[in-house]
Amino acid sequence: MSMGKKPYISLILTKRCNAKCQMCNCHLNPTKPEDEFSPALIDKLPKMKSTTLTGGEPFLRNDIEEVLKKLQGKTDRILINTNGYYTERICEVCAEFPGVGVRISIDGSEKTHNEIRGVPDIYDHAMDTIDKLIKIRGKHDLGIGFCIQDRNYTELIPMFEWAENHGLEFGFSVVQNSSFFNKADNVINNQDNIVNELEKLKRGYLETNNPRKWARAYFTDGAIKYVLNVKKPLTCDAGRSSFFVSAYGDVMPCNDFPKDMIMGNLNNMSWTEIMNSDQGKSIVRMCEKCSANCWSICNMGSQMRRNICKIVLWIVRNKVL
Ligand code: SF4
Ligand code: SF4
Repeated sequence: MSMGKKPYISLILTKRCNAKCQMCNCHLNPTKPEDEFSPALIDKLPKMKSTTLTGGEPFLRNDIEEVLKKLQGKTDRILINTNGYYTERICEVCAEFPGVGVRISIDGSEKTHNEIRGVPDIYDHAMDTIDKLIKIRGKHDLGIGFCIQDRNYTELIPMFEWAENHGLEFGFSVVQNSSFFNKADNVINNQDNIVNELEKLKRGYLETNNPRKWARAYFTDGAIKYVLNVKKPLTCDAGRSSFFVSAYGDVMPCNDFPKDMIMGNLNNMSWTEIMNSDQGKSIVRMCEKCSANCWSICNMGSQMRRNICKIVLWIVRNKVL
């Protein structure tokens, strides 16, 4: 890891999940609660620029408050990704930690979302969670996350407009495979249609008055390149300034390698030992040479922040076109 640069770390708190999403098999191979890493391991992490708590469903952890307490002062920002099902629990935790960002998965209309997520009433729960969070702590850093795929690309723009009209953040990911989530058969068949919708989203972001959303237009442009399998405009920084920590305490450069790439485990090594280990260094070298074209906010967010000049130039060129 480059000295002096605070990393971006995603903590996979659990592989347990109440949903059975069509694009993720996390629920088929869940962690046992007793095997999940203890909040005490957070003491071993370096100071972080940003920490994303993810899963599985992070709110299935009974000790998420302890995780959040341990992260205070350790990271500049905390974001939790959730499927939004456990309204009461989510509201209880978010009321205690009002500065934490929350992204709730919504993949389209009620019917589409429930079908994709494999739970008959998950849309109602997620929407109820959004309403209640707004009442409890306002709209600050609250938003939805949309996973674009063949099943729902026609609903991308309606959901973006819904979020804009409600003053909520709108983020998206493009469906992808991941060894960690036991999924290797996600494919995109409607490439052209998905690209058309992403082009509309890019314009939608650019037409706002919000510079952060202009940067999302740049991210959307990268996602278009990913769908078209055109070389991405920024290299990824996995293993150098962005990392994943698995529910077992394994430190990995990213979540996208076809097989798990474990640099070391926080249960028996310090962060520095992992970074300086032969295994850690050889994985970083593999990442540097990696020719995969992945484009997700977890592995590109840090690079985008470090390439601000390039992104500003892109925005200027594209806003005036
Ligand atoms: S995508 Fe998220 S909500 Fe769906 S099964 Fe996987 S971890 Fe659970
Ligand atoms: S490009 Fe390679 S190293 Fe980077 S996120 Fe993808 S699989 Fe990981």
